[in-house]
Amino acid sequence: MPALIIGNWKMYLNYTESVAWFAKHSNELQILQQQRGHTLIICPSYDSLSSIASTIQPRKLALGAQDCSAYANGPYTSQVSAQSLKEIGCSYVLIGHSETRKNLKGTIEASLLKTKQALAHDLTPIICIGESQDKYKAGTTLKFIEEQIRPILELYKINHPEKQLVIAYEPMWSIGTGVIPSNEHLETVYSYLIKRASKIGIQRAPLLLYGGSVDEANISTLKKVPQINGYLIGKASTDFQKFKKIVELIY
Ligand code: PEP
Repeated sequence: MPALIIGNWKMYLNYTESVAWFAKHSNELQILQQQRGHTLIICPSYDSLSSIASTIQPRKLALGAQDCSAYANGPYTSQVSAQSLKEIGCSYVLIGHSETRKNLKGTIEASLLKTKQALAHDLTPIICIGESQDKYKAGTTLKFIEEQIRPILELYKINHPEKQLVIAYEPMWSIGTGVIPSNEHLETVYSYLIKRASKIGIQRAPLLLYGGSVDEANISTLKKVPQINGYLIGKASTDFQKFKKIVELIY
């Protein structure tokens, strides 16, 4: 089955490395994407987005940003608007990534405002949710993700019933640690999300992604989870050979 596969480069690659990566590998990835029917999306850091968008004409791979401002424009030093991201060639934007929530004090309210900005400018938000290790150990994963996702589900139901909701479940204790959840845990989470979306009245079933330490060694285990429609891949996506191998192993 075709999958949505996102490479989140975080701040691993600098400007020069990011542009060079695209120049060297985007053709090959585009061919792989066409052969398998997947959608490949790369989220480089802000600084390289514009150059990459202009060097990969005609568009070979979709581009995403790692965040956007919760505001349309105005006195928001250091922020980047959804409108600018659209103008420079992004189609997607990560919303509420746990590193943003942790390091930049992102809140559930901020994620909702950012989602509204993204949708208003025709970007597809990738809604990132996931609990901390403490919450996981306390058995409160579902309670926490309910708090994170409810406002988003309501927004889509009321204001954007025609849009495809994309949710990435990324347990914080799995990101960058090499530890992945059991398939049983993942099935419980995804079943819950499917049930909640349907109960709240979302018309289109959400696309469900998994993120957290995905690599060539664990992808065969992860792909046994039937509800997963794609993956959000951090560090491994910056290494072209690793990323390519993962994409080849997905289906
Ligand atoms: C991420 O940042 O979304 C992520 C999943 O990171 P990693 O694959 O490096 O754990």
